[in-house]
Amino acid sequence: MNIALIAHDKKKNDIVRFATAYIKTLEEHTLFATGTTGLRIEQETGLQVHRFQSGPFGGDQEIGAMIANNKMDVVLFFRDPLTAQPHEPDIAALIRLCDVYSVPLATNMGTAEVIIKGLERGDLSWRKIVRGEKGEHHELD
Ligand code: PGA
Repeated sequence: MNIALIAHDKKKNDIVRFATAYIKTLEEHTLFATGTTGLRIEQETGLQVHRFQSGPFGGDQEIGAMIANNKMDVVLFFRDPLTAQPHEPDIAALIRLCDVYSVPLATNMGTAEVIIKGLERGDLSWRKIVRGEKGEHHELD
C-alpha cells in the first residue's frame, strides 16, 4: 500500500509518536509525506519516506496528484484545526480528492488508529482491486 503522512506544525510531534507506535506496520508499506513531516519521521523513526515539497509549497498538491492518478491508498493527515494555514485551498483540494476517489482519509490521530488497525487486519485489501494490482507496491513513475 502507498500511504501518505502529513501533519501541520503543531501536530508533528503527534505524527512522529504515531509512526513510532506503528513502525512495524508502516515499514511494510511505501510511505510518502510532505517535506517537513517526512523529514521528522525519517530522522526520528528511521522509516524510509518519499518526501514531497513542504505542504505550503505544493506538497499537498503532489499527494493529490497521486490520488488523481490512482496511486495513493491511504492518507493520514494530522490537521491543526486551531491555526490558520496559508495553503488552506490546497488542504481542501486534497481532502476533496480523497472523497472523489474514496481513498481512506484520517484527519486526526483517532481515525488514523482505526485505519492502521484496519490495514493490519487486511480490511483495506480492496484498494489493490481498485488499483488493478495483485499486491505489488507501486513505484513512482
Ligand atoms: P510539511 O507540510 O510537512 O512540509 O510541514 C505539512 C503542512 O504543513 O501542510
